[in-house]
Amino acid sequence: MEQLVAFSEAYPLLWCSALLVLGLFIGSFLNVVIHRLPVMLEMQWPDEAALNVEGDVQLAQTRYDLWWPRSHCPNCHQPIVLRYNVPVLGWLVLRGRSHCCNQTIAWRYPLVEAATGILFVAAGSLWPPGVSLLGALALLAFLIALAAIDAETLLLPDALTQPLLWLGLFINLSDAFVPLESAVIGAMAGYLALWVVYWLFKTLTGKDALGAGDFKLLAALGAWLGWQALPQLVLLAALGGLVMTCLWRWRHGGDFDQPLAFGPWLAISGGILLFVPGFSF
Ligand SMILES: [Zn+2]
Repeated sequence: MEQLVAFSEAYPLLWCSALLVLGLFIGSFLNVVIHRLPVMLEMQWPDEAALNVEGDVQLAQTRYDLWWPRSHCPNCHQPIVLRYNVPVLGWLVLRGRSHCCNQTIAWRYPLVEAATGILFVAAGSLWPPGVSLLGALALLAFLIALAAIDAETLLLPDALTQPLLWLGLFINLSDAFVPLESAVIGAMAGYLALWVVYWLFKTLTGKDALGAGDFKLLAALGAWLGWQALPQLVLLAALGGLVMTCLWRWRHGGDFDQPLAFGPWLAISGGILLFVPGFSF
């Protein structure tokens, strides 16, 4: 590890480039997780056809997980040629249209890859190689996947939120971001805080404003960032959601009946507080 620290100090540009490339490829893997995890969950509950992923469920009669089948076009299901599978560049070379069937490739693909790469470099400029940097990269990757999945399917899978919580407690065993005590209280208080909001809102209005996934994500963020960060986390996320709702009403008019995904806002405010721990208004 000491050699790596020395290397990053001697060749900062090379170190940043390495983190960028790592981020681009992790981002490419996150795209697989974002697309496939909801399909895999849907296969586990065959009766609930609530998600808009039917095409892939039919495809998935045989083995279907994060590793198999190989990358294929979501439209015509042909395997993707390796050189077009290169993060961001593949999308640029193809000018956003698939090679096999000339369909638009969703913006999400290059966006997730680029965002992961840029955030990895940003983390690398803030933390030297070590446990904290490794933790920050892991947290960012989980948050990107969770934000994108929630935005697309209104789900925050336990398969992601639960490991994220344990990982946060584990990484803070060595006080990487906050003392362990603060992390444990953060995990409990994070869950309870949104659970209370949920029941208050449900009792008063009869509506579900939040899902259980939101409680678990805030618990995980509490485990990473400590209980002291919880008020800012919720405030920032609520502000983001509120601004979004107002923009939506202003552009589309009328009632805002569409359920709002709160997870992306929690993820974004988690990212902000990771980089700026003492963030306040
Ligand atoms: Zn195709």
